[in-house]
Amino acid sequence: MTRYIFIAGGVMSGIGKGVSTASIGAILSSSGFRVSCVKIDPYLNVDAGTMNPVEHGEVFVTDDGLECDQDIGNYERFLDQNLYRANYMTSGQVYQTVIDRERALEYEGKCVETVPHIPEEIIGRLERVALRTKADFVLIEIGGTVGEYQNLIFFEAARMMHLSLPSRVLFVLVSYLPVPEMLGEMKTKPTQHAVRQLNASGIQPDIIIARSTVPLDLPRKRKIAIFCNIREADVISAPDIKSIYEVPVNFEKEKISARIFEKFGIRAQKPDLANWVRLARRISTLKKSVSIGIIGKYFATGRFTLSDSYISVIEAIKHAAWSLGVRPDIRWLDAEHFETDKRALRELNAHDGIIVPGGFGGRGIEGKIRAIRFARENSIPFFGLCYGMQLATIEFARTVAGLKNACTTEVDPKTAHPVIATMEEQEKNIAAGKFGGSMRLGAQPCQLRKGTASQRAYGENTITERHRHRYEFNNRFREELERAGLVIAGVNPERNLVEIVELKKHPFFVGTQFHPELKSRPFRPHPLFHAFLRAARKRAESK
Ligand code: GLN
Repeated sequence: MTRYIFIAGGVMSGIGKGVSTASIGAILSSSGFRVSCVKIDPYLNVDAGTMNPVEHGEVFVTDDGLECDQDIGNYERFLDQNLYRANYMTSGQVYQTVIDRERALEYEGKCVETVPHIPEEIIGRLERVALRTKADFVLIEIGGTVGEYQNLIFFEAARMMHLSLPSRVLFVLVSYLPVPEMLGEMKTKPTQHAVRQLNASGIQPDIIIARSTVPLDLPRKRKIAIFCNIREADVISAPDIKSIYEVPVNFEKEKISARIFEKFGIRAQKPDLANWVRLARRISTLKKSVSIGIIGKYFATGRFTLSDSYISVIEAIKHAAWSLGVRPDIRWLDAEHFETDKRALRELNAHDGIIVPGGFGGRGIEGKIRAIRFARENSIPFFGLCYGMQLATIEFARTVAGLKNACTTEVDPKTAHPVIATMEEQEKNIAAGKFGGSMRLGAQPCQLRKGTASQRAYGENTITERHRHRYEFNNRFREELERAGLVIAGVNPERNLVEIVELKKHPFFVGTQFHPELKSRPFRPHPLFHAFLRAARKRAESK
């Protein structure tokens, strides 16, 4: 008896549909229900792995190796639950399945049509999630905004599902109410239009989440109710707040769970959000701060700075910092500055910790390498994530081990010292032009070396972490680099691949081939981020 809740967005993107979905999920699960979430992305890419981060934002990776939208990360963080391939769907996947099936004669000679065959495939996928997870609620976030051509077919699937299961399907519209400065008044018209658009697809929202800079007042609530054909109680006021982790509590102040339970006709225990209340209180009362510099290159779009490309890194920093009682002050540092401006390096001293996150290609890497050297030589806590670990290895090889011009073959295929290189299987993928879904992906085991900073941080000997990369530490150079002082703190036991490098005699200098940020949760900060932030806090305190 799974119930399905579709969540769609109105007026514009970026208003927090993903966080709204995740928060409703957190509320329902705190009432004792099993919840699963599905993200639908209407684009034709089969997964998110082939897109540029500036275009798409972070590519999240699940345990089973799916490269997907960052919203899956929000769901995992809010539900404190691992999600899998089945929790993510794109138009590309759906069409590919239907076309493959047609080629295999599985439609038995019928004309295969966009409607009903595509929506049927969509519905089938959602029902399989329900079956596999035995969820009481499956929440489905439809990407994009109401009124777009791209996501229409998913609304059609939602409508068909509601038709066949009227008492088990609900629609939530997350909409935006602008308060134009020259008017000084909140306007409901764009939301009215969004609802009309939904109506045109045969869908009436059951609940409207009214996003705005400020809370909704009674006259606005009434207006939305009348013009959008909905009860006042079903309009949830959702003003801007400081932290996304306050959203579950704020939704529940508006009694969202009671609305959902009433509509489905179920009796349920009241949600217990005590841990969310505590977290929100904790966040709002932090006084001391630590300054963390993230050296990246995926954040400039025209005149605007985007942090979406590194969202899990940011969240992981916050989780660890909050648990240590400090407020993280995150600064974006453009890698290319360090290539052109000598003074920029010295400014790194102002930070309590430096992170070099994941990345691809040659742009900015020399700047990152210089910054890593500065952090190493000046005892600034350093944490390298994936590409950050590879570049730390290159820096060490060049400066400490004397391997001049050491590089990754990703950037310099002819380097004399390829300390980072591909494995054979990846050579084949590259030669064949097979780039989609073909990196080393998903959860892999890692054996930790006793006595290392990483092993102490985890307090365990074997861990699993998520990967997404094509290049690796080249074992040909392992002995030489170890002799020069590089510590190999973690190794993949099955394939003997280096997963963690460290340095001794440094407050914190750790690089991981995997992406620890993907497994950090608000109530369970990641051990390595925790250790990194602790070192950063110590530096901040000693200033
Ligand atoms: N570009 C590197 C590789 O493919 C690192 C990837 C990453 O940082 N995710 O191996």
